[in-house]
Amino acid sequence: MFLLWARWQAGGVTMAKITLSNLRHSYYPNPKTVDDYALKQIDLDWQDGGAYALLGPSGCGKSTLLNIISGLLTPSEGQVLFDGKDMTHLPPDARNIAQVFQFPVIYDTMTVYDNLAFPLRNRGVPEDRIASRIAEIAAMLEVSDMLKTRAAGLSPDNKQKISMGRALVRDDVNVVMFDEPLTVIDPHLKWKLRSKLKELHQRVRATMIYVTHDQTEALTFADQVVVMQDGEIVQIGTPVELFERPNHVFVGHFIGSPGMNVLECELRDGGAFFQGQHVALEGAIRPDMTGKPQIGIRPEFVTLGSSGIAATVRKVADIGRHSIVETRAGNQKIALVVEGDTPAQGDKVFLTFQTGQTRLYSDGWLATTQEAAQ
Ligand code: ADP
Ligand code: MG
Repeated sequence: MFLLWARWQAGGVTMAKITLSNLRHSYYPNPKTVDDYALKQIDLDWQDGGAYALLGPSGCGKSTLLNIISGLLTPSEGQVLFDGKDMTHLPPDARNIAQVFQFPVIYDTMTVYDNLAFPLRNRGVPEDRIASRIAEIAAMLEVSDMLKTRAAGLSPDNKQKISMGRALVRDDVNVVMFDEPLTVIDPHLKWKLRSKLKELHQRVRATMIYVTHDQTEALTFADQVVVMQDGEIVQIGTPVELFERPNHVFVGHFIGSPGMNVLECELRDGGAFFQGQHVALEGAIRPDMTGKPQIGIRPEFVTLGSSGIAATVRKVADIGRHSIVETRAGNQKIALVVEGDTPAQGDKVFLTFQTGQTRLYSDGWLATTQEAAQ
């Protein structure tokens, strides 16, 4: 207890780099095939102080991964390390992690103040220090006027704010993890809390991992986004990197609205051809590529011109400053974003792809390099 308090006094925040090494997890006692694993193979470092989002569709293994980090679950294989120290078999309370769940976890019979004080009293923090810390956190979350209220009387979104406050009030945690925390929040408050969390990260400076299936939430909160699909990590990058150079067509589809166009193509004479026409790629094709080739181009980088790929306009959606035009070229759909004059349904148009933004994929994985094509 004294040590904890001394660390607190010194303002010594105990954060750590978290390493997941060779991690696999199955909920079955005797997993046989790769499909029996909720997590297939995870190797990942979470750097100290980072703002991370863990993004992926429902069922891809996000909560499983968080629960392994916090110690609620023990992985079937592999290790969880904090600053190189093996934590894999330590219980949650030995890990100094704060976790916020989808639904609020608070004590209904206590006041808001006592709920926020609970994690600190548990660690023997003096009352005057507790009071100042609560004042600070309550102000950030805009719940200062509710401190004397009994938690039972709060609306669901205020309850969730208090849950978040309980996680943020400690300054001795290794990481604060949020598992889809805005599920119960009213849509008009979501936007506000989302930007609040970003601001909190900048002030609290703890490592934060924010789990969501919503790309907007992930991209507004995180400096680094970890994209998961089906028990595996498909890409880690900044929001801009994920948008500009998706490492896998899944990331291309999942991020952006509409998602990246992924088009069947043919490879010959060292180049890519879409419906018989040569398409210039961003760079060289990886020499070892053997899988099914597809061209990936974002709707933002397809333009209308007087020559190029012949297509017919199928649908036009005006979404304010620009329109999303859906075309068809042969048997394939190509969407593009148009600013200014938009064509009409049924029009015959020509499309060009911005060369620096045209990627090639092999069995779904990026197969071009940004070095100049020969
Ligand atoms: P996410 O949080 O991304 O929605 P989960 O980690 O909850 O995904 O689930 C990953 C996979 O593991 C899913 O197929 C889910 O059905 C399965 N799963 C999750 N929890 C359990 C459990 N307690 N027992 C058995 N299977 C589970
Ligand atoms: Mg989940």
